[in-house]
Order: sequence, then structure tokens, then C-alpha cells
Amino acid sequence: MRHFSRISHIPPLSQFINPVLNSAIPVPEKLTDLKYYLQTYGCAMNENDSQIVSSILHSAGLKSTDTSDKADLVLINTCSIREKAEQKVKQRLHELLKQNKRAKIAVLGCMAERLKSSLLEEKLAHIVVGPDSYRALPKLVEAVMCDGKKNAIDVQLSLEETYADITPVRNNEISAFISIMRGCNNMCSFCVVPFTRGRERSRPMASILEEVKLLHSKGIKEITLLGQNVNSYCDTTSDSVNSHENTPGFSELFKSRPSGARFAQLLANVAEEAPNSRIRFTSPHPKDFPQEVLDVMKAYPNLCKQVHLPLQSGSDRILYSMRRYHTQQAYLDLAERIRNELPGVALSTDVIAGFCGETEEDHQETLKVLRTVRFEQAYMFAYSMRSKTHAFNAMQDDVKEDVKKGRLAEIIEVVKEIQKEINQKEIGKTVKVMVDGPALKGNWDWTGRTEQNKRTFGKGSWKLGQDIEARVVSASSQTLFTEEL
Ligand code: SF4
Repeated sequence: MRHFSRISHIPPLSQFINPVLNSAIPVPEKLTDLKYYLQTYGCAMNENDSQIVSSILHSAGLKSTDTSDKADLVLINTCSIREKAEQKVKQRLHELLKQNKRAKIAVLGCMAERLKSSLLEEKLAHIVVGPDSYRALPKLVEAVMCDGKKNAIDVQLSLEETYADITPVRNNEISAFISIMRGCNNMCSFCVVPFTRGRERSRPMASILEEVKLLHSKGIKEITLLGQNVNSYCDTTSDSVNSHENTPGFSELFKSRPSGARFAQLLANVAEEAPNSRIRFTSPHPKDFPQEVLDVMKAYPNLCKQVHLPLQSGSDRILYSMRRYHTQQAYLDLAERIRNELPGVALSTDVIAGFCGETEEDHQETLKVLRTVRFEQAYMFAYSMRSKTHAFNAMQDDVKEDVKKGRLAEIIEVVKEIQKEINQKEIGKTVKVMVDGPALKGNWDWTGRTEQNKRTFGKGSWKLGQDIEARVVSASSQTLFTEEL
């Protein structure tokens, strides 16, 4: 096995607290009387960002409340990935403006970054804050809520902001997210993320390990490392001079890569720092799985054998126009290598139906990959064109809606059928489940997830965070049902 250098001395968290931060978060007495309500849409990254926002607001003296009716300030952390996601948020904003006329509304996250001042012009918000400007929130809130300003906006993207020094406010006693990097340089032609989240930057490894250590000492059972392109992680502040290495057969648009401590090294260090916790990571790009990452995943039993491998399309032609610089064969080779190297691994994926120029033959290539790799889980969507993207500027959204929907239905059917077959094979086997709460359906007592992240139900006494071994007695395409051993 290759050698993964370990950081032996980890300085305390206080060392990472930027003194500028504390002075940058004013605690005006005016703010201490205010109550805020924060609602989150979208991905795990947004959930973690909301925890960072809560931490910043608490430092500025605001108190949280559990309903929007009681709040003086309502913050909505938003997602822009698809048109539908934005429509949902806009509907919610209209509702809030009607329900609580007294409150000021702040829109945060990707929609704030994408729509900027148009949210103010449309009178959908009083405050608009992009994902790299959360430190400015108290100042902006004060301007609007205390100093009589009509509205306030900060949507400046940053090349450095990682919020490394802010400890998120977490409510979950057993699972935690840790952001390790932000932004994306890949510019996939369908994706708005590089425009809403900015350039890729990684958090210093020492600050991540300090947070992991803290969570582990509190008994957190599951840690998920987060990033828009999580396995592209590169800590340029470390002494490490590892250069960037792509997955064999994969290349990328962004060529000039700095050297630094890379994802494999971070994974190994996190696994050692939290030996009793399950470690997961999301969302990776298939281009960043050099052998070293698989070696580390093999070496540490607490690194969950679960890999997300976004496919998007199975057609070489469409992959190229999506700016995913690999072939179907390179993808299949990677999936096979992962299955061989990590026995029992669960693979999940993302698929887009009906991207610009997709023909029936291209669609059949996607189905072919789905049938070959046999994913345990998939997130499947019909293509939705987003402004600012390369596709928006240079391509035609020329696949008719009913064709997109038909192809999506076919993709879902193939995936579901395979998932059902995979889960049926689990019947009679013993699985280890981490219980994450009471079962809220049927006659089951508890629910939890396996190492492969499969939703599982069981009977008998349980405790939150307990590891239970149980025998699978039946299964659907999404769920395992067990009996006590
Ligand atoms: S890798 Fe591609 S799909 Fe993923 S966030 Fe970056 S641009 Fe979007």
C-alpha cells in the first residue's frame, strides 16, 4: 500500500479562528432582540451552509425560532440547479410575504447568486446574500432591520472563502456534514454551479481534522465530507507537494492544477481521527479517482464502501458536449475497478435525460451503461436549461418535453428494476444498520441505514446511533426489511 502522510500535530481550533471574523460580526444590541427562522432547500452542502449561517447569526446575538410566523427575519437558503427548484422557492417566498408581513425576508445561496438584485426588484426579498458572503449577514440585517435601509445585497464571490473557522450549529446527535471544499472549476456545459458557487477552493486540512476530532469526541457516529467536487480536494497551504492525478482515461477542462495535500491523504487522516465513525463523502467527480483514493478506501474499514459516480450520459458524443472529458468505456472501466477493489461497494449515480442534441441512440447508450453497472441508487432528471451555462449560450434545448419525459421514465424503470433485483438478493443476509430514528411506518420499531446507505427497517428495542445486526426478510427497490437475530 502507498504511504499516506499523517499530520501528527493538530493545532487547536482557536488557531483557525480568524480574528477578523469576530470583528467582522458586529453584535449590535439592536440585533439581540431579533428572532430568525431559517429554511433550507437543495443539497447537503446547503444544509451545512445553513448551519454556518446559524452560527454567524448566533454570534451576532440573534435567536432562532421554530416557525416563520414568530420570526422577525426569515432566511431561505436556496437551490438553482433546476428550473423547478427555483419555482418552488419563489412560491414559498410569495407565501411568506403574505403570511408574515412584519418579517424581513433574506434569500441566500445559489438563487441569490444567480438572480442577484432582480429578487429585490421583483420585491421577493429585502436582503440577498450569495454563498460566499455569509459573514456580511449581520451587517446587512442591521442595515435593513435597524437602520431603515429598504434593502441590502452582497453577492460577491470569493477565491478564498471556506468558512474554515466557523463551527456550524448542528442539531443532529449522530450525523454531521463537514464542508471540505467549495466551488467548481469544471464548467460542465449543463451546470449552473460554477456560476453560483464560484471557483474551486479547499479548506486547510488541519482545520478539517480539528472539526472531525471534536465531532468524534462528542460521539458523532457518521461524518459526511462535502464539496461540489469533493474528491478534487487540494490543500495548497500544506507542505505536501502531491501533484494532481486524474482517473485513468479521464481528463478535464481545467489544466493548471496546484500541488498540495490531496483527497486520498485527507480521507486517510479523517478515517484515523474518527475510528468509530462511519465516513462518507459527496459529491465526487469520476475524473478524480486515482488509484490512491481506492487504496485508502480499501485500507480503512470505517470509510463506507459507497461511491457516488455521476454518469449524466452514457453516450460519448453527449459526454463530450456536456464537457465531461471521458468516454463510456473509461467510465465502465472505473466502475468495474471500484467494484473489484472494494467488494460489496454500492454505486450511485446522476443521470440527465434529454440533454441538447440527444438522439434515441444516445439515450440507448445511457440505458446500456445503467444495465452494465447496475447502480444501487440513482438521481434521475429531465434536462432543464439554465441561463449562463455553456449550453445556454451555445446549444439548442432541442429535445421535446414529451420525449425527455419518456426517456426519463424509461431510465427510472430500468434503474428501479435493477435496484429491486439487487435488494432481493439481500434477503436472508445479515446487515449492520446504524439506527437513525423511530420507524414512522408499518409495524416497524426503528429505521436506519446500512454501510451502503440503504434505508432499512427493523423490530425490537433500539437506541439512536446504535449499530444493530439484523437479518433481511424482504425488500423493495428502495428499502430493506429485517428481523431481529
Ligand atoms: S462537476 Fe460539473 S456538474 Fe458537478 S458541480 Fe461542477 S460543473 Fe456542475
